[in-house]
Amino acid sequence: MKMYAGISRAYVPLLLAQLGVIAWAPLHLLSWSYAVVLAMLALTVLLCWRRRCVSVAHNRPLWSLLLLALVAQGCAFGLLFTDSLSNPQGTLVAFDPTLYFCLSSLLLTIAAAYNPVATLYRWASIVDALLACAIATLFYYTLHQVLNAATQESATATFVMRMFDAMGLFVAVFATLRLVSTKRSDERRFFFVLTVFAWLDAVLPGIHNRFILSSESYLPELLLGLPFVVLGFLLGRRRKVWLRSYRPSRRIRHFAESISPFVMSLALCCLAFAQLGKNPFLATIMLILAITSYAARNAIVLGQHLAFEDDLRKLKRGLQQAIVRDDLSSLLNRRGFYRLLRREWAGALETGRALSVAMIDIDSFKAFNDTYGHLAGDDCLVAVAHALQREASQQPDVVVARYGGEEFVALMGGYDPATSEDILQRLRRRVEAMQIRHARSIKDVVTISAGLASTATARYPDSDKFLNAADGALYVAKRNGRNCIHRAGDTG
Ligand code: GH3
Ligand code: MG
Ligand code: MG
Repeated sequence: MKMYAGISRAYVPLLLAQLGVIAWAPLHLLSWSYAVVLAMLALTVLLCWRRRCVSVAHNRPLWSLLLLALVAQGCAFGLLFTDSLSNPQGTLVAFDPTLYFCLSSLLLTIAAAYNPVATLYRWASIVDALLACAIATLFYYTLHQVLNAATQESATATFVMRMFDAMGLFVAVFATLRLVSTKRSDERRFFFVLTVFAWLDAVLPGIHNRFILSSESYLPELLLGLPFVVLGFLLGRRRKVWLRSYRPSRRIRHFAESISPFVMSLALCCLAFAQLGKNPFLATIMLILAITSYAARNAIVLGQHLAFEDDLRKLKRGLQQAIVRDDLSSLLNRRGFYRLLRREWAGALETGRALSVAMIDIDSFKAFNDTYGHLAGDDCLVAVAHALQREASQQPDVVVARYGGEEFVALMGGYDPATSEDILQRLRRRVEAMQIRHARSIKDVVTISAGLASTATARYPDSDKFLNAADGALYVAKRNGRNCIHRAGDTG
């Protein structure tokens, strides 16, 4: 770690060396200047490699792309260096390095488009990468058309300079859009570094190029290495998260994510328009590619959003079910039952329809657990729940729920008290008929007792009092010897 901190300090003597070259060796200025820039680049590549190694695994491809972009720029400056050895005063346009500068821009654009985590955008990232390749190829092709057809050197140089300005600006805008829409703090570090570098790499060489075309000063040579110095400084910083307090709002994310593909397609369209007069076939192909890729990208994101919406809807439905269902018996739980009771109670008040509620309890269940164990107790609970459910489902408007523990409730709508009691007797007989062995019960098998309350026999002020009446009746049924039913209001 300390070694790397030392590396970033080495930029200072290199900058001083470049100043020294400008002051004392103007004859061999270009060669020395490119050599210093190459040394700066080598340091930055080293720091980028180390950042790549210490980054989290899913961010490594991003750092690798930045590393490759730096290597591509290294190749470009290497060619400029060898060119300057034979021609120390320089040429206005250096031909060969353009390929590597284009390659570097392409890699930076792919890095800005790459999404390491969100599977939702993986296919969209692939479309972006293909589009970036098309843009870089067409850019390079257009550049070489201009260079090959060059008649007036200074006009060509100005044109090439503007093209590189546009390319640099495109990469910088694209990286900025990505930075402002990134939610994950670990990714933000990368996109912050990328954005700063992309802007410096667009602006400083642009200023340098303008100066060398219009002035005799050698000072602008200093600007060539500056993007790598600043990048190296950022890469060497230990801070884990940049812009810690920044959280993109939904509106910003929406804007940035929807404008990014538009920027890509627009860039390709502009390059295609430039080809319309010279190569209409290529221009048409590229225009079609720009439009279809924009449509395809939108279709991918829309399709994924719709699938996501479907998943969310299913999840919501599942959650809504889960909060009103009992896990063990799959019957309605107490919350679900209360919802139903309140609804039915309100309906009964409005329409005057009779409503009966029964509190049902397994007899001597503690003794069952003590004798056969808790797991056997659970199995017994499930068996009783299913028996009650099956019997209830044979009657319209009869719902059984698990109230808690070994207690169940049954809600019966539209039955007079006698019929309600009859239904309840059938539930009781169904449980008894299962003949689940229970050595410490009065009948040697598992049985239930129930207390019944009905709105047809008494006026209850609210649904809680109605339920309490059924609970009171259950206690009487237990007192009466179990495996029986007692109706609230009846004596004994
Ligand atoms: P009674 O006939 O008067 O209702 O007697 P009881 O033993 O059934 O009543 P008590 O309230 O004394 O005991 C209820 C038992 O139900 C105690 C508890 O261990 C058992 N129980 C409650 N919930 C569950 C459960 O989910 N699984 C199992 N296995 N047992 C449960
Ligand atoms: Mg009980
Ligand atoms: Mg009990």
